Amino acid sequence: MKGMMMHRPLKIADIITFAAENYPLGELVSVRTEGDIHKTTYRETARRTAQLAHGLKSLGVAQGDRIATLAWNGYRHFELYYAISGIGAVCHTINPRLSAEQMIYIINHAQDRIIFCDTTFVPIIEKLRDQLPNDLRVVIMTDRQHMPQTSMEDVLCYEELLEGQPQDIDWPDFDENEAAGLCYTSGTTGNPKGTLFSHRSTVLHAFMLCVTIPKVLQEGGRILPVVPLFHVNAWGLPYAAPLSGASLVFPGGALDGKSLFDLLDREKVYSAWGVPTVWLGLMNEITQRGNLPDGFGDVVIGGSAAPRALIEAFETKGVNVCHAWGMTEMSPVGTQCNLPPDMADLPLEKRIDRKQSQGRGVFGVDMKIVDDAGNRLPHDGKSQGHLYVRGNTITSGYFEDPEASKPVFDQDGWFCTGDIAKIDPQGFLQITDRSKDLIKSGGEWISSLDLENIVMSHPGVANCAVIAVPDSKWDERPLLIVVPREDAQPQEDELRGLLMAKLAKWQVPDEIVFVDQLPLTATGKVSKLTLRKQRAEGNL
Ligand code: ADP
Repeated sequence: MKGMMMHRPLKIADIITFAAENYPLGELVSVRTEGDIHKTTYRETARRTAQLAHGLKSLGVAQGDRIATLAWNGYRHFELYYAISGIGAVCHTINPRLSAEQMIYIINHAQDRIIFCDTTFVPIIEKLRDQLPNDLRVVIMTDRQHMPQTSMEDVLCYEELLEGQPQDIDWPDFDENEAAGLCYTSGTTGNPKGTLFSHRSTVLHAFMLCVTIPKVLQEGGRILPVVPLFHVNAWGLPYAAPLSGASLVFPGGALDGKSLFDLLDREKVYSAWGVPTVWLGLMNEITQRGNLPDGFGDVVIGGSAAPRALIEAFETKGVNVCHAWGMTEMSPVGTQCNLPPDMADLPLEKRIDRKQSQGRGVFGVDMKIVDDAGNRLPHDGKSQGHLYVRGNTITSGYFEDPEASKPVFDQDGWFCTGDIAKIDPQGFLQITDRSKDLIKSGGEWISSLDLENIVMSHPGVANCAVIAVPDSKWDERPLLIVVPREDAQPQEDELRGLLMAKLAKWQVPDEIVFVDQLPLTATGKVSKLTLRKQRAEGNL
């Protein structure tokens, strides 16, 4: 027997309408490419979003059309999220740090009809224009006064597109399973692959975040997403913040430690979200100044493993660390490591031990670990295996790419994350490594993450990475690559000593290389692929 309740489609536009009606003064603060700070409210944003939606329709945008963005975090980018999906089109966020080749591939693959770009990125499009679809329209995200000189004909101005349009709109109804957003992962081999989010998956993900991280996602909360709107929808914040009444502070393109410190301080941000590399810069700034930004009390670290030393540095300064794990194909959040009350009072060392894990699941994401043959392993905190997930916010295949989709699902339809993990009886997930980064030495596995964590605890180390290098006797051996802090010269024997104290001798790298900086991926993570390539080419 079916329940007798109404069925209304879950739609993204309903979030901004809800926020405008219930949290009208919730704020969006943006560092603009024009050079100033812009402030607006959810009420005003809903009006401008309606204008933008009318503007898009005037350009002939229809349901299902892909509309690209190439932009920093800011209020106009936020408006695009809602206006594009609100009329049933698909918001395709593009990472400006992708290579030209990848960008050309994804714009053509997605068959984008319009691209909205910040003034900063106009030169990128000018350069690629000849290799992009002929009928691709370009809209520059500024007002007439700040429109840059460009060799491209027929470019449109964002503010002019809104001008004179009605400030309200009846958002159309459609199936909640319609596509709403498209995000390509960089992919370590082959072409980038597109994850196509639906209205339903996006709204459910927003609910899941609000339920899971309520201390931050609440009315009056002030959150700064350093994680870009082009990196898996800034981990869902543009949806969860208005849903919960929290305000957002967008940093634009200035993501160095000093700029972030000043913005956090001035805007009294409580919680900031981003990948570890960004926090290393902010922590340097905090250490130099000797104080925290005013009101700052929480940091969400995800995208790659948070180094123990970083967690410790924040926690000892009174900043709560929430270590989170997920991936583009998961919308992205899968777990988060805020501690339950009985663990929150543990001594610092024990608390950090816990926070080094990726934490417990969010409702709606099922997890299992399996051995090489696909047999389920117990959640005993000891057995480690391949991590699979399933749920309403997990991809069911890559956009227009059946070949890439096949290998990532098992026969029961679970998605293979490519991560190796353990889960303990209390539900805490511990990622050991990405399967492709594990080091196989003499038939035993070495976790690159374990080694990196220990090395990062040396005060003279700014950053480090461990990769596998081929070895005739042991198959593979770990190679440690270290970026020393300015004015520091960590010695090889000190680093080995640190590792020896915590690991078996055979796990300790024979070779250590010092470099000035580590290559980063387009999403700001250390690129082990590039390091492996540099090594193979004799450049490391
Ligand atoms: P890309 O790295 O191409 O941007 P994703 O953002 O989807 O793609 O990366 C997801 C992967 O990042 C996960 O499968 C996992 O290996 C890694 N990852 C994300 N968060 C964490 C974390 N907290 N700890 C360890 N690894 C993480």
